[in-house]
Amino acid sequence: MDCLFCKIVKKEIPAPRVYEDEHAIVVKDISPQAPLHFLALPRKHYAGVHEVGAADNKLFEQLFNAINAVVAKEKLAEAGYRLVINFGEKAGQSVPHIHVHILSGRSMHWPPG
Ligand code: AMP
Ligand code: ZN
Repeated sequence: MDCLFCKIVKKEIPAPRVYEDEHAIVVKDISPQAPLHFLALPRKHYAGVHEVGAADNKLFEQLFNAINAVVAKEKLAEAGYRLVINFGEKAGQSVPHIHVHILSGRSMHWPPG
């Protein structure tokens, strides 16, 4: 697979990284929807969380470890933060590679639009 985020993972397309390890990277969103808006992506390509089989479910732990590293580095627990994963066109997914939006730095509404 060679989607936009696979290209960012391989550094074929530049994106400022705030965190990376062997399993996941966290980049700044190119079109931020909050004062702080990061995207946590596994290096491995899957379109959605339901595609990750039991054999590979360490991926979630690895992805959330990367998220927690950014929460600590950017002091997001103090500020409050929201995590969002979109899947499918109707939910607003535009890149078919699992990514967790990390949003912080402003008040947010519920329910989401
Ligand atoms: P989604 O709509 O949930 O699939 O989220 C995709 C996100 O990727 C959007 O928030 C876009 O702003 C973001 N995005 C698209 N292209 C890039 C890029 N080159 N670098 C960083 N973020 C991007
Ligand atoms: Zn991909």
